[in-house]
Amino acid sequence: MSFSSFGLSPALVNILTAQHYTQPYPIQKEAIPAILQQKDLLGIAPTGSGKTASYVLPILTNLQGQVAPKNRHARVLVLVPTRELAVQVRDVFIQFGTELPERVKTIAVFGGVSINPQMIGLQGVQVLVATPGRLLELVDSKAVHLSEIETLVLDEADKMLNLGFQEEMTRIFALLPKKRQNLLFSATLSDKLDSINQIILNNPVVIKI
Ligand code: AMP
Repeated sequence: MSFSSFGLSPALVNILTAQHYTQPYPIQKEAIPAILQQKDLLGIAPTGSGKTASYVLPILTNLQGQVAPKNRHARVLVLVPTRELAVQVRDVFIQFGTELPERVKTIAVFGGVSINPQMIGLQGVQVLVATPGRLLELVDSKAVHLSEIETLVLDEADKMLNLGFQEEMTRIFALLPKKRQNLLFSATLSDKLDSINQIILNNPVVIKI
């Protein structure tokens, strides 16, 4: 199976070839078709398995050709535990998203740095990658509106819980539209994670790498 057989945006397939992504990794073979079909997904996969591209590529495809004039706010929210992961995930969206016919604008917001440049950068953004605490600060100051989120990704969900973000996550879930796609990635499973899965995942495709 090659990247060209999934139904990904043709422009994206060209970018993949140019960047020497010759074969999809196992998680990508399973996750890409499910996400393209707008299904919910639980991916148990370690870092290094190619999990980031497994959701970035189909999300970018789903965003193509669907930019409605009514969309004024972010349509994809990726929650991550750390600043480092926020930057990494943002860079993968930029790596594949900026040369698409309908350019996808992505921003990463995280704590520990000044909030004002992040507020300015939010203009016209479609993909928001965020750590939970800073996201809520931006929501509370009305710089971020989560009412148009169509896809929620939790990346390294186990680490987010281990760092004590459960309360923030629950507050964020309550601010999202009820009808949305949910993708949850974690290196490990736990009872705590199970309770999050049950709240947010709707009949998910389960992938274990
Ligand atoms: P991740 O697990 O998302 O952190 O990805 C691990 C590394 O694998 C990253 O450096 C990616 O650029 C790379 N990668 C992901 N998928 C592929 C692929 N299908 N072919 C080649 N490299 C890939």
